[in-house]
Amino acid sequence: MDAEQLREHAHKMVDFIADYYKSIENFPVLSQVEPGYLRGMLPDSAPDHPESLEDIFNATELEMIVLDWLAKLLNLPDYFLLGGQGGGVIQGTASEAVLVVLLAARERTLTRVGKNALGKLVVYASDQTHSSLQKACQGNPARKLQVSKSDSSTNYGLSPEVLCEAITHDIAIGLIPFFLCATVGTTSSTAVDPLLSLGKIAKSNGMWFHVDAAYAGSACICPEYRHYIDGVEEADSFNMNAHKWFLTNFDCSALWVKDRNALVQSLSTNPEYLKNKASQARLVVDYKDWQIPLGRRFRSLKLWMVLRLYGIENLQCYIRNHIKLAKLFEGLVAQDPRFEVVTPRIFSLVCFRLLPSQNKDDHGNKLNHDLLDAVNSTGKVFISHTVLSGKYVLRFAVGAPLTEERHIISAWKVLQDEASALL
Ligand code: PLP
Repeated sequence: MDAEQLREHAHKMVDFIADYYKSIENFPVLSQVEPGYLRGMLPDSAPDHPESLEDIFNATELEMIVLDWLAKLLNLPDYFLLGGQGGGVIQGTASEAVLVVLLAARERTLTRVGKNALGKLVVYASDQTHSSLQKACQGNPARKLQVSKSDSSTNYGLSPEVLCEAITHDIAIGLIPFFLCATVGTTSSTAVDPLLSLGKIAKSNGMWFHVDAAYAGSACICPEYRHYIDGVEEADSFNMNAHKWFLTNFDCSALWVKDRNALVQSLSTNPEYLKNKASQARLVVDYKDWQIPLGRRFRSLKLWMVLRLYGIENLQCYIRNHIKLAKLFEGLVAQDPRFEVVTPRIFSLVCFRLLPSQNKDDHGNKLNHDLLDAVNSTGKVFISHTVLSGKYVLRFAVGAPLTEERHIISAWKVLQDEASALL
């Protein structure tokens, strides 16, 4: 493509995006096409001659700078910065992040206890942890701990007592606890695990402590929400998805580790064809040793643009506004006696449900399922669901950059109308 073609295509693309933004309210919130429709419109194989600029832009250094900026914004301990023993790296997803730190933790433990112990290593997390951990654990036994004896009293956070009991039991039968994953902002209900006490338990048992803040990490750039990651000082690794709630397009998952050597020791390879003066002389951070793939995209550019174009102030306003809108929705639900708010709202997700009539033996699960279907079929709103303590729960998440108060109010009206039609 020459300069004039590039200009022409870029103008077309900008017009397309601007027109889309102008007319966004005329579209249904969910795509109307069937899964698989694109396959039929595209050739079966990739073009023979790729012409990618991305490989040319190896900007390792920008990534280091940007992740240090973000770590400082989150007030992470200094050892997560590249100036210390650790550092940050952009992974594609939180799922990849947990996999790489699990591999590092495994290597670290096996170096300590001997390679034969592989089958004895155990991973711990609450039953509210994202399924990506289960995927990363293939081959290692994983304990999914029930959050606590009375779930809702701890808002579905993992109880340190439950963790201690499980570790003590496993050690007694000859197993080796080696990895704990805590979550700040669980997928189902945005529960927050108590990092400080969990981290201390992990440390005293020589375990790797990973904190998954994929969604809620973004909120912690606001001083008033930073306390949700208090205790991160005990963590070996911390992850947040800039592509979830930080205005950065997919994919961009920021991972920090306390000890970068742990990653390098488990993931480093040094084949002849990759040797070059800079990496041999250890003059550069070789991110290939911090991740699964060899090649990498120039993901730091978009994070850098977001941080520079918005500035900290506007990013904090953005988060605060979403939380304010979610609070508004929570208030509307609470005022209608036909509904209940199921767990206290912490960030920008509201878990709620329509109350069933007295003698329903399925806790109103079908009713809420029907409500979800009815609401989503209008094409005006899209809500999702989860199951908490056996109850089918509706989830209203605020997270789109263009959402305003009037959208929340009209979404609530749709919900009320559909509930009236069902009851
Ligand atoms: N962790 C949490 C808490 C999540 O909510 C999610 C996704 O919703 C993930 C991990 C997985 O994120 P990713 O799609 O980046 O792998």
